[in-house]
Amino acid sequence: MTAWDPGTGRGAGDDAVRPRVRIQTEPRPQAVPAPTQNGGAPEAVREAVFDIRDMSVRYGENRALDWTTLKIYRHLVTAVIGPSGCGKSTFIRSLNRMNDSVPGFRLSGQVLYHGHDVYGSGVNRVEVRRRIGMVFQKPNPFPKSIYDNIAWAARNLGMKDDLDDRVERALRSAALWTEVKDRLNQSALGLSGGQQQRLCIARAIAIEPDVLLLDEPASALDPIATASIEELMLQLKSRYTIVIVTHNMQQAARVADRTAFFSLDVSGANRVGTLIEYADTSTIFRNPADLRTRDYVTGQFG
Ligand code: ADP
Repeated sequence: MTAWDPGTGRGAGDDAVRPRVRIQTEPRPQAVPAPTQNGGAPEAVREAVFDIRDMSVRYGENRALDWTTLKIYRHLVTAVIGPSGCGKSTFIRSLNRMNDSVPGFRLSGQVLYHGHDVYGSGVNRVEVRRRIGMVFQKPNPFPKSIYDNIAWAARNLGMKDDLDDRVERALRSAALWTEVKDRLNQSALGLSGGQQQRLCIARAIAIEPDVLLLDEPASALDPIATASIEELMLQLKSRYTIVIVTHNMQQAARVADRTAFFSLDVSGANRVGTLIEYADTSTIFRNPADLRTRDYVTGQFG
């Protein structure tokens, strides 16, 4: 129904006239062994989910991000850190075409997802977002019941079989089931902020994505709710590839296997977001190669 068909780029209505090519990803759920040392040597052993090549982004005349090249690896948590305005949100939102509707947004270079160009002509954006789910800074439950929040996207996508099971599985995966199982028909707006954010994660999980993009998912939460979101990320990475934007360096150090540090290149006339260093989280925090990374993670800048 919603196959992302990079070969034709056509949607469901074109089934009758065009063959479709499904993107093959490995089946889930499938636990993988924890990396030996915080993600150690993923290039040698890990499959790249995203292969981002020379990605530059503009909003109108404003250059937000320049020449970004990196790979994001399967079943790792990858953190994106850097000072305000360096393009962290722009980066993560570009991975599932969430910026498409922003006026003036233009992207050059390539974002390859399992080898397929996310921005290839005619790619089905609904399918991109089904596979690459997103959770935002501010919890944004629908003004519906807890049950309907989780079931909504699944229903829309025609995943109507065993909906009760699907809802329960998603809520269990988001560590929310025991707290809400007796009030599934009550409004999601009555949940606490931390519960609402876990609900949003459950909503994203319910349609069985491959990747979870989390854009500062805990920055609006108190420390206890933040801890439960971090714990959840560590649980979920055996089944999903997670990319998290965070301005909280301790959080990156706690949850991420790999960390990408972006900063503002101020050498030219404009200030442009630039990837400075990308490595195992332990390397970024303990032995960074670039002085700018060192200054940032030791709190001397940013
Ligand atoms: P960060 O997440 O690191 O704070 P952003 O990705 O939000 O950085 O912003 C990077 C640059 O892009 C900034 O100069 C910002 O002003 C600009 N920008 C972000 N969103 C928009 C938008 N919707 N329209 C125009 N410019 C934007």
